[in-house]
Amino acid sequence: MTRAGIVTLVGKPNAGKSTLLNRLIGQKLSIVSPKPQSTRDRVVGILTRDDVQMVLFDTPGLLDPHYDLQRAMRAVSRTAIDDADVILHLVDATEPSFESLVAAAGLPNQPRAPIITAFNKADRVSPANLNTLRNEQPGASFISAANGDGIVKLLARLTESLPESPFLYPEDDVSTQQVRYFAAELVRETALEQLDDEVPYSVAVEIEEFREDRTPVYIRAVVYVERESQKRIFIGSGGTKIRDIGRGARAKIEALIGSSIYLDLWVKVLPNWRKTPSALSRLGYHVPQDQRR
Ligand code: GDP
Ligand code: MG
Repeated sequence: MTRAGIVTLVGKPNAGKSTLLNRLIGQKLSIVSPKPQSTRDRVVGILTRDDVQMVLFDTPGLLDPHYDLQRAMRAVSRTAIDDADVILHLVDATEPSFESLVAAAGLPNQPRAPIITAFNKADRVSPANLNTLRNEQPGASFISAANGDGIVKLLARLTESLPESPFLYPEDDVSTQQVRYFAAELVRETALEQLDDEVPYSVAVEIEEFREDRTPVYIRAVVYVERESQKRIFIGSGGTKIRDIGRGARAKIEALIGSSIYLDLWVKVLPNWRKTPSALSRLGYHVPQDQRR
């Protein structure tokens, strides 16, 4: 008897979502065989272990005002909540206050799926404070995505919430989507690290080509910004900025896929892409018809 289903991840920026994902599916990602695919998916990872398969969904922008690309991202995130078999709400245990998911995300009603709250970064909280938290939130899990504490128990809890079901994907399938998704996210993350305040919110990244049949692996990434002035900032004087961003992103992607890559990085202007349905859908953000303005 196997179990399988959708685990939807929700968490504020910096809660440790990426760290947790890497811990959960890291080894598998490195053996992925990327194939070209055009649109971004909500699936960010598939974890198959023994007789359980978890399909991990992301919720971009749900608790992150910076990346709230208005209706498109919210719609994707809401659907990921609606489709979930279990929702994993990751909370930074070092943060002073706790807000329920329904309140934090402004959900119209309590989701159908059970919500498991996991306090991450338990390694950074004193035993006394940890105890207080445990008393306040008796149903919560306490983990450290960084050192692995509590992960086995958390996986067991998630498993219990999944329905009995045949696997939804082949056992060793981790579709290429995730690698492209992560590659795009790593380019975006590096750009955000290295750019000043006003540009980042206008940055979107598209992986146009991902050729694993070449050595090094060839990746062409296009960074979209909304204005010419942002493009100039991105390139920097004499191209120094884009070179630095490219170098940083390359190192991260190499660490992720475990082989050397050639990152062909471009920057293009897509005017007002955040407000243009055709541009949004091209970048993989699907705006439901009935929510278009
Ligand atoms: P995300 O924005 O939710 O994806 O968060 P990240 O995974 O990028 O993590 C944000 C920061 O918290 C990074 O500096 C991580 O190294 C750190 N971090 C994540 N998980 C843990 C943890 O369990 N313990 C500690 N001490 N740091 C963590
Ligand atoms: Mg992250």
